[in-house]
Amino acid sequence: MIRKTSKETIAPYLRDASNYSGGVAEEVLIPENPEELTEVLKNDSRPVTIAGAGTGLTASRIPSGGIIISLEKFNEMESPENGEVWVGPALTLTELQESLNHSDWFYPPNPTETNASIGGTLATNASGSRSFKFGVTRDFVHAAECVLSDGRKVLIKRGHKISEPLCMDDGSQVRFPEITYTSPKCKNTAGYYVQPEMDWLDLFIGSDGTLGIFTKICLKLIPQPAAFLSGVLFFGEEKFCWDLTTAIKSQSFVSPCSLEYFDRYSLEVLREKYPNIPSQAKAALFFEEDVEKQEMYDAKLENWFNFLEDKNILLDESWFSQNEKDNKTFHEFRHEIPILINEKNSRAGREKIGTDMAVSDNFFIEMMEFYEKTLSQSQIPYVIFGHLGDNHLHINLLPKPDQLPLAGSVYDEIAQKIISWKGTVSAEHGIGKKKRKYLYEMVGQKNIDELKKIKSVLDPKGRLGKGNLF
Ligand SMILES: Cc1cc2nc3c(=O)[nH]c(=O)nc-3n(C[C@H](O)[C@H](O)[C@H](O)COP(=O)(O)OP(=O)(O)OC[C@H]3O[C@@H](n4cnc5c(N)ncnc54)[C@H](O)[C@@H]3O)c2cc1C
Repeated sequence: MIRKTSKETIAPYLRDASNYSGGVAEEVLIPENPEELTEVLKNDSRPVTIAGAGTGLTASRIPSGGIIISLEKFNEMESPENGEVWVGPALTLTELQESLNHSDWFYPPNPTETNASIGGTLATNASGSRSFKFGVTRDFVHAAECVLSDGRKVLIKRGHKISEPLCMDDGSQVRFPEITYTSPKCKNTAGYYVQPEMDWLDLFIGSDGTLGIFTKICLKLIPQPAAFLSGVLFFGEEKFCWDLTTAIKSQSFVSPCSLEYFDRYSLEVLREKYPNIPSQAKAALFFEEDVEKQEMYDAKLENWFNFLEDKNILLDESWFSQNEKDNKTFHEFRHEIPILINEKNSRAGREKIGTDMAVSDNFFIEMMEFYEKTLSQSQIPYVIFGHLGDNHLHINLLPKPDQLPLAGSVYDEIAQKIISWKGTVSAEHGIGKKKRKYLYEMVGQKNIDELKKIKSVLDPKGRLGKGNLF
C-alpha cells in the first residue's frame, strides 16, 4: 500500500474539474490489490472518499476530511468476449476505447471527457453525446464487484432485484429499506436511482461515491459499427437549430446517435481556436450517426442531404466528415468548448458555475426560450452547449466578480423553473458537494429522508463520500 502524507503529494487529489477549493484530507492511500483495500476499510474508522480520475464537475471526489483512497492501481482490462469486458475501475475511457478499436466490439457511452475513469463514470452514471440513441452508463453495466465502507464485499449481477437481499462475502445480508420514493424517469442522476423492482446494480450506479466502491466492473458491449458519419451544421439563428432538432426527433429518415449544441457565445469562444467557423454562424449542431455496415454508408449520407436540404441551415458553410479523421476532429471540436470554458474559469480564479439540467421533450422549446430570456436579461456573460437531443444543456455563467451574487440568483431561478417542469437539476454530472441545495429543492425533505434510509443500510456510519448528496 502506498501512502501519501505530505501536503504536496495530497494536493493533486484535492482537485477536480469544478475548481472547487476547500478540500482537506489526512492522507491518500493507494492499495495495490483488493485485499489491501478491504483490510484498510475494516481497520480504519475515518471517513473515506474515493478518487477517480478527477474530471468530475461537482467536487464529489474532494473530501472535507478523513482519507482519500485512490484505486489507480486497479486499471486492468481483460479481453472482450461475447459482448462483455471486465475492467478495473481506474481504466480510463480513452484506454478502453483504444483497446476496443482493435476488436469487433464497441462501448457506446461517450462522456465528452475521455480521461474519466470507468469507476468514476459508474459513480456518476455518466452519459454524453451518444446517449441520445444508445443510453447512459447504467445501460451498459452487466455486473460489478463492490466493497462497502466496512470492507464487506459483494459481486452484484444484472437481474439481482432489490426485493432479494444482497448477500455479502461474510454471510451477512443487506435488505433494501421500505420507502415510497421513486426517481424521475427523465435522464437523471440527481439522488439515488430508485424504481420498483429494480436491480441492486442500478442503485449503486449513479450513487455519487456514497454507497460502495467499485473494484471490478463487467461492461456490456455492442458490435463495432463499420463507420460513423458526422457533421457540424451552422445556423444563422439559434432558433433554426432548435427547430431542426425538433424536426429530427419527429421522423425516422435519419437516426443520429449524437445531437450536440453550440450557442452563439460558444461559437465566439471557439473562434479563438477555429477561425474557420463561418462568420455569419450564430449556432451549430454536431450530429453523428453510426453506420452498421460499410455498404449502407452512401445511402445514409444521402438521407442526411435529402433531409437537410430544405431546412434553415447554412449548408454550404457546414462541415461534413469525409473519413474517420474528420469524425475525430469534430469530437475534439465538441470537447474543446468545456475545456476552453474551464480554462477561462481557472484564469479568473472562479469556481465553475455550470448547469446540468434536463427536461422532457414537451418542454424543450419553452426551456430554450426561457434560457435565452433569463440569461440575456441578467447581462452576465454565458455560453450554452451540450446535449440538445436530450433537452439537456450546460449553461456556463461567466460572471465578473461583482456579478457573483446575481449569478447565484440566476442559477436558482433556472433550477426552480426546471423543477416546476418536473425536470432534473442533474442529468449526468451528479450532485456531489456543489448541488446539494438543488437536490433538496427537487425531491423535498421527505424524500431526502427516504434516500438517507438507503444510505444507512449500506453505510450506517456515513463514512463513504461524506458530504456528497446530503
Ligand atoms: C471537459 C469535460 C467534459 C465533460 N463532459 C461530460 C459529459 O459529456 N458527460 C458526463 O456525464 N460527464 C462529463 N464530464 C464530467 C466527468 O467527466 C464525469 O463526471 C466522470 O464520470 C467523472 O469520472 P472521474 O473518473 O474523473 O471521477 P472523479 O471526478 O474522480 O470522481 C467522481 C465521483 O466518482 C466516485 N468514484 C470514482 N471512482 C470510484 C469507484 N471506483 N467506486 C466508487 N466511486 C468512485 C468519486 O468518489 C466521486 O464521487 C465532463 C468533464 C469535463 C472536465
